[in-house]
Amino acid sequence: MDFFNYKNGHLHGEGVALKDIADEVGTPFYVYSTATLTRHFEVFSDALRGMNAMVCFAVKANSNQAVLTTLAALGAGADVVSGGELTRALKANIKPHRIVFSGVGKQDDEIEFALNSGIKQINVESEPELDRISAISVRLGKTATVALRVNPDVDAGTHEKITTGRKGNKFGIDWERVPEVYQKATDLPGIHIAGLAMHIGSQLMDLEPYRQAYSRVAELVETLRSRGLTVEVLDAGGGLGVPYGEADEVENPHPEAYTEVVRNTLGHLGTELIFEPGRMIAGNSGVLVTRVIYAKKSTDKTFLIVDAGMNDLIRPTLYGAFHNIITETQPPPGADLINVDIVGPICETGDTFAKDRKFPETKANDLLVVRTAGAYGAVQSSTYNTRALIPEVMVNGDRHCVVRKRMSVEDIIALDRLPDWLSE
Ligand SMILES: *Cc1c(COP(=O)(O)O)cnc(C)c1O
Repeated sequence: MDFFNYKNGHLHGEGVALKDIADEVGTPFYVYSTATLTRHFEVFSDALRGMNAMVCFAVKANSNQAVLTTLAALGAGADVVSGGELTRALKANIKPHRIVFSGVGKQDDEIEFALNSGIKQINVESEPELDRISAISVRLGKTATVALRVNPDVDAGTHEKITTGRKGNKFGIDWERVPEVYQKATDLPGIHIAGLAMHIGSQLMDLEPYRQAYSRVAELVETLRSRGLTVEVLDAGGGLGVPYGEADEVENPHPEAYTEVVRNTLGHLGTELIFEPGRMIAGNSGVLVTRVIYAKKSTDKTFLIVDAGMNDLIRPTLYGAFHNIITETQPPPGADLINVDIVGPICETGDTFAKDRKFPETKANDLLVVRTAGAYGAVQSSTYNTRALIPEVMVNGDRHCVVRKRMSVEDIIALDRLPDWLSE
């Protein structure tokens, strides 16, 4: 459910016509809806009622300061995966005791930054990392609170590039090694081991992998406790799928059904629980608005060549992802549909947003709206083909604000330097 709807024949983000934003900032651009972000955060939080739980938004899904500040005001914590994201979360006024730090390759300066910031916990992904944190923590005279990220070896049944909880993935500590590493963490100086963390993948449309992973982890907790080890915190990760609008797609799991699984598998352990949803909060909260440059007819289809490219939204290229795409003007009921490919201007065949879609007749200059682009959209954009990063706009009721301005080509070129021998 989101707040992008047709009113008077034109698509609006809440009370704001997207065509008016297009006139103001040019195309392409992202739009985020405050009401949708708020609703998703609240539906998820409500589903956790009665639990000793904290929601840490996965910043990598959408790290715009306006998005983070909106969520911070609702009480969100943050799951960060870099020093950069930690900086963003702190600047958005997310309290350190609500921040967890995940990721397989944390560097010394990032660990130091995390310890000096007093964050809730570092999720440790390997033994060498545990040793490193211990050494840095001792040097700083601190105690690092950590959780061990375990790899529960389950198949999340999602795209191979976003499955993370199977043996052989780079994430987490091998199942069999966990009790030994947990004991080691208990004994290491400068370390307080709080519990376990897991994150089995992203865009999960089925709850069964969660049930398997959480059940396995619950057994592990019993094993650790039977050895006299203390487990106070379980980080259940993120990964809940959202509907991208493919007609034959299975329905995405409701947060209530998800937390029911959590209650049944982890509830009896009496630990604090941490959740790290990203896509589920931000996905439907954003759209990408783009303009048709040319409508090129070939024998069996029409190519709609739009001004957004894979550098602006890489999900279709990277994951073969489906995004529902609609016209900014509401098509008349029963409008004839034609067969189209919607493609970007970039010199790569992979720069394709949609193939063989049934689409209303569309001409040059029309606006198209790519839905469910609020997560893993702007954050994964690049300047490939020397295309400047596009603006991000936030709407809130009848108000809107450019929350990241359009970069200029000059900005991009200004980062380059000529060596002496070329500039003499
Ligand atoms: C990416 C990631 C998440 C968020 O995943 P979503 O599918 O966006 O919910 C949560 N935790 C960790 C450790 C991640 O890497």
